[in-house]
Amino acid sequence: MSSRPHLLGPWRRTFQICLAALVALIPFLGVNGKALLRLDIPALTLELIGHRFRIEELYLAWLFVLGLIFLFLFLSLIMGRVWCGWACPQTSLADLSEKLLAKKGLRPFRHLIAFLVSLWAGATFVWYFISPGDFFDLLIAGKLGSWPLGTTLIVAAFVFLDFIFVGRLFCREFCPYGRFQTLLVDQGTLCLQATPEQLKRCIDCKSCLRVCPTGIDIRQGYQIECINCARCLDACRVVMARRGEEGIIRYTFGVNDLTWKAMLTPKSIGLGLLVVVIGLTTLFLASHRATASFEIGRSSLISSRLTEGGRQLTFFRGSIASRRQTPQQFILSASSQTGEPLTIKGSTNFTLLGNEKRDLSLAVDTPIIRGGKPLPITFTLVVKEDGSQIEVKAYLAPADLTNQNASK
Ligand code: SF4
Ligand code: SF4
Repeated sequence: MSSRPHLLGPWRRTFQICLAALVALIPFLGVNGKALLRLDIPALTLELIGHRFRIEELYLAWLFVLGLIFLFLFLSLIMGRVWCGWACPQTSLADLSEKLLAKKGLRPFRHLIAFLVSLWAGATFVWYFISPGDFFDLLIAGKLGSWPLGTTLIVAAFVFLDFIFVGRLFCREFCPYGRFQTLLVDQGTLCLQATPEQLKRCIDCKSCLRVCPTGIDIRQGYQIECINCARCLDACRVVMARRGEEGIIRYTFGVNDLTWKAMLTPKSIGLGLLVVVIGLTTLFLASHRATASFEIGRSSLISSRLTEGGRQLTFFRGSIASRRQTPQQFILSASSQTGEPLTIKGSTNFTLLGNEKRDLSLAVDTPIIRGGKPLPITFTLVVKEDGSQIEVKAYLAPADLTNQNASK
């Protein structure tokens, strides 16, 4: 008597749909009035989960991406090419293309659907850089610049060609990850196979072969082309269920059908620890980042000047950038090497809006400095809200060096 087999295909399709929906929705989602994820290139900032990181803090984003890369490698080591079979957009696109070809009623609309999907993919890509609201406002006003429009069309053209002409060929012939993955196969890596013992029940119906998107015969053992999509597993379960038997193909830990403990190798433990260390470091740095960035140095445009009152003015330029979402007040002061306060000509009190960057231009008023080496001084920026300080060292040039504009 045949029983209803448990199939993985519906789970895979649901996962693909959820992932595509998530990618499409992220540009529309925000936290605290900021985007969930957007790289604003003109403003040189990254908005991530409601926080805005300026360009000088993008090392945090790189650290985050590095953590994701190692997490990806770790999952590949544990679960094989599950990414390819279940999550890769290329696979989802090829699946959709094949579905349209298989359905007679939809076949005539394949090019139209491919065109719409491609346009959506191109626009979604750009929405990770420009908010969808701004995108449509600019588009309607005819002011969408050449790069957003051009990028949308170029990405759309690639997706369309991929959809119609390339499909699985990319996975088989060009995908670098597929080649790279051979390095990550371990003794306990999850794989699909039919063990020699199970194969004794094979009735050679070739259903597993017909459904395989990479065209391999899994009965001949694990092959690196296998993307762990589990289509063969489903096909075999359906065939064998009619005979009242279990499927022959199944997931195993490693090609030698070991237990889950086989996954615990020096490679997997090392990679796992690396992911944890990078993740914790990123979290620590993100939660302890300074409330502002401050930089200042001798002006290369204005030379130091002697005043009629027998004083010396040394000019400085710099900037303060707030890293908070709310307004902040700052007080700037300068002191000599011995800690003596120095007079600043120019603003020393600033109120910056959330994430605002303010350029500074000021002069330090001192007695005339003669002979010897440039004198070190310290600029101190105090954040009024929490009393935290940022100190930057700079130099005052002696009067006889004032036209040389030595850099700090
Ligand atoms: S062998 Fe099975 S799991 Fe591997 S790619 Fe082919 S159908 Fe998918
Ligand atoms: S689907 Fe199962 S029974 Fe049919 S050929 Fe493949 S392994 Fe053998």
